[in-house]
Amino acid sequence: MTVVTRFAPSPTGKLHIGNARTALFNWLLARHHGGRFILRIEDTDHERSSRENVQVILDGLAYLGLDFDAGPFYQSQRTALYHSAIDQLLAEGKAYRCRCPQEALEARREAAEAAKETYLYDRSCRDAGHGPEQPHVVRLKMPLAGVSSFDDRIMGPVESAYGELDDWIIARTDGTPTYNFCVVVDDADMGVTLVVRGADHLINTHKQLPVYAALGLTPPRFAHMPLTLGKDRAKLSKRHGATSLVEYRDMGYLPEAMRNFLARLGWAHGDQELFTDAELIAAFDLDGAGKANSIFDTEKLDWINSIKIRERAPEALVGDLVPFLARRGWSATHDPRLPAIIAQLQERSRTLVDMAEQAGIFYQAPDQYDPKAVKKWWQAESPEVLRKMREWLAQAEPLRQEDVMPQVERLAGELGLSLGKVAQPLRLALTGSSASPPLDATICLIGRDEAAARLARALVVLG
Ligand code: GLU
Repeated sequence: MTVVTRFAPSPTGKLHIGNARTALFNWLLARHHGGRFILRIEDTDHERSSRENVQVILDGLAYLGLDFDAGPFYQSQRTALYHSAIDQLLAEGKAYRCRCPQEALEARREAAEAAKETYLYDRSCRDAGHGPEQPHVVRLKMPLAGVSSFDDRIMGPVESAYGELDDWIIARTDGTPTYNFCVVVDDADMGVTLVVRGADHLINTHKQLPVYAALGLTPPRFAHMPLTLGKDRAKLSKRHGATSLVEYRDMGYLPEAMRNFLARLGWAHGDQELFTDAELIAAFDLDGAGKANSIFDTEKLDWINSIKIRERAPEALVGDLVPFLARRGWSATHDPRLPAIIAQLQERSRTLVDMAEQAGIFYQAPDQYDPKAVKKWWQAESPEVLRKMREWLAQAEPLRQEDVMPQVERLAGELGLSLGKVAQPLRLALTGSSASPPLDATICLIGRDEAAARLARALVVLG
């Protein structure tokens, strides 16, 4: 049987990092099994759903590189299907119209809550046989006794006594179907074979299974994923840093780093931490998914990201880095130096933001010089070093990277200085700090004329 999974977000806010993991798990399972992955937008809550939020979801999936084989389907466009299922259940006596006044039920709910009891509808309309002529909601006839149980692919056997579930509403007074009902009709209609979602939906599964039974449909398999917590084991919240997926894109995390990181939240393959996409797809199945809550560790994400940055060919990072350079005001789309600049910074960058910041030395002259480095490296003989290097640059036509260090060594010999006392003042003058990629590459990437101009300026400013 072809495995069909789906991601079914409600467009009522940002795409939370936990939802992104749900999407990834479903996508990986579909890819692993050679199945299909469906995107369904659950926008039945008209007041809270918005077009912008749908776009946030689509942008998030595009960033993560999760392509879908069908959809996006919108529940708001599928109401006819839900209504015909509701009519069918009413006709077969598996659902009923309830005329209990909303206020009375609300009062009972409040009283139950005040007494710290679970409120359950008392089923007074269940056998009343009400017709459609007066205002009503439609409720499902849930089993009255016994236990709802199923074998969860992650949690194992789970159960809930029917006595703890009431005849829940499947259509509101205005006729609109409710969320739990639409999910079942859609999952069945779309041929979903495996529903992977957060453990917060476990109770919904117990409510949904009787709908499958009532409609004569075979339910899919279910897998409920445990929560992802912050490092302090509290529910993931703003306090732990960014919680929406696109914030991570904007902080400069590569999609493959995010995929690798999110896949390991609640799933393991031996003790392997780093995966290529092909390895993830080959290894990912629910046997590796654990019951324990997972911990969102941003240090680990940084580590994975720095490795993924290194693993990319420099040319393949150009398109990713350009927007981050643009944010700092540097338009680098047509900069032929970019692959070489990236090659110099790959080993030293945790994120693309970090890389763009470090690339600054190739786009603008220093507007200040690190005082600590000045104190340490700017000595009486430094102006002479800069002057001589400037003279050499003026005649180095063309400037070749392999000639730079021999010249630095010559200069050190000539002036009777250690290599550091030549190289560091030069680096300081060129970049404003004493830490940069190797001096020869730095000079060549800055360019001969610009490097000479920076040396001249440093001679004036540093005196
Ligand atoms: N729309 C639900 C949510 O965003 C998910 C429903 C499901 O996966 O069954 O939480």
